[in-house]
Amino acid sequence: MYRALYRVWRPQRFDEIVGQQMITQTLKNAIMTHQTSHAYLFTGPRGTGKTSAAKIFAKAINCHHLVDGEPCNECESCQAITKGQMNDVIEIDAASNNGVEEIRDIRDKAKYAPTQADYKVYIIDEVHMLSTGAFNALLKTLEEPPANVIFILATTEPHKIPLTIISRTQRFDFRRITAKDSYDRMVYILQQKKVDYDEKALRVIAQAAEGGMRDALSILDQVISFGDNTVTLDDALMVTGSVTKKLLADYVEEVTSHDTKPALETMRQILQEGKDANRFIEDLISYTRDVLLYQQAPEMVDSVAMGEDDQRFADFAKQIDAEVLYQMIKTLNDVQQQMRFTTHPDVYLEVLTVKLSQLEVPTTAVAAPSAATNPDDPTIQKLAAKVDNLQSELSTLKTNGGPAAATKPVRTRPSNGPVVKKVNVSQIYPILGAATKDDLLKVRDVWADLMNILSVTQRALMHVAKPVAASGEGVVVAFDYAFLYQKAIDDQVLMDALGNGLDRLMGQAPKIVCVPKEQWPELRKDYLATHQPEGAATQQAPQKTPVVDEAEKRFGDLVEVKPD
Ligand SMILES: [Zn+2]
Repeated sequence: MYRALYRVWRPQRFDEIVGQQMITQTLKNAIMTHQTSHAYLFTGPRGTGKTSAAKIFAKAINCHHLVDGEPCNECESCQAITKGQMNDVIEIDAASNNGVEEIRDIRDKAKYAPTQADYKVYIIDEVHMLSTGAFNALLKTLEEPPANVIFILATTEPHKIPLTIISRTQRFDFRRITAKDSYDRMVYILQQKKVDYDEKALRVIAQAAEGGMRDALSILDQVISFGDNTVTLDDALMVTGSVTKKLLADYVEEVTSHDTKPALETMRQILQEGKDANRFIEDLISYTRDVLLYQQAPEMVDSVAMGEDDQRFADFAKQIDAEVLYQMIKTLNDVQQQMRFTTHPDVYLEVLTVKLSQLEVPTTAVAAPSAATNPDDPTIQKLAAKVDNLQSELSTLKTNGGPAAATKPVRTRPSNGPVVKKVNVSQIYPILGAATKDDLLKVRDVWADLMNILSVTQRALMHVAKPVAASGEGVVVAFDYAFLYQKAIDDQVLMDALGNGLDRLMGQAPKIVCVPKEQWPELRKDYLATHQPEGAATQQAPQKTPVVDEAEKRFGDLVEVKPD
């Protein structure tokens, strides 16, 4: 029977856990010096080694043949734990056992001494899924820990765990695994398995797995089965579904140098590879955003670090005008919206390609339009006719209701920024409703410390952000640049890190809601206008309206109230 790579190659020693050396060394030291805690909390994104570390810990603490804090993996106890046949090592998936009864059951049984091993170890995975009642039952056990019993709680969402529980555990935050670490691990496994591989293929897989070792190995599994025991770049690209970086780079360079025909050719090539039109646009948006980001702060673009075209990317970022990139993102977003109404998305890509290759910088003439975009060119004329057709098709669809009825108008501002997802007011309004100056000051007090907890790249991203309003329940964080706001909210690891950090620094985890700074004054004004204190009618007076008074009361002078 075939067994998945991530199962076969599940780490059996602390040293085999990828990318968490600090944590594994600390655990080994604790075991060697007999200074283990009775409860641990392992947090971090999925596939970063939390449950593997828990099982290795269970083995090590029960193994009589320890070597430097590592379990021997050969004695009866070690083997029983590896096979999941040790009665004293109990693994519970809280996602399917979230009831009070189960935890009470643990509480009752934990009292009894271990039967086979030295220590009873309870590993509770996805512990945030426990119900409130179950947490209370667990808390009672943690308050009076039975001798020789160790609890290891693992979770991807530590902010959902009551502080009373967290404070009774020793906490370890598992990091996202770097592309380099997962690359090295894949190389090791493939060498052991004697499977041939293309290094570029492994880079593609490492990037696609986004910091999860288990995901990387699952993708690798698929690529191996595709390629008949070899790992090729083509198969890796196909399995990960990512448009090749090279073709994307070709395309972006072609449209920005107004080379319409070659760009159309590249686009067709990309589609022929079986890429979906929507995916192509998404890849283009994130590529363009990475270029913008790279111009802003090169160290923030870590995904490029493993790419094969580093230099080319860097060169391009240096010569392209940011304004063109903004316009590209806007155009891409528009076409993405329009494509929702059509059954022929490919046609839109042709139109898109023409549009993109005709973008010009409005003010400073950095890149002069080349002669390549000749309006008399038959290709261009044909496409112009297509644009007209599509536009009328689109307006018909819209007037007939249809899918258009289900979409909300997207509010765009006539700024130079790209269109971003509309901020969700249902998340912001409750915070604004309870916002006080004191709460904001409390958050600002710990903000610098919070930034210090973050990784270097996370810190670089948050450098352009600051808290602008806070209540006991939530914080509104404004970003100077809309595209960085977008990048931040798409980054679940970052959002978790911020939540965990505030939890640690303030003893509570307020909800974090991000906004682009350019939308903040308007959001606040809309809120105050629709939630005015009694008796305050809408007034047009420029100064000291009740709205402004109310704003000062809530947010104080900490926020510059700019006239719109
Ligand atoms: Zn052993």
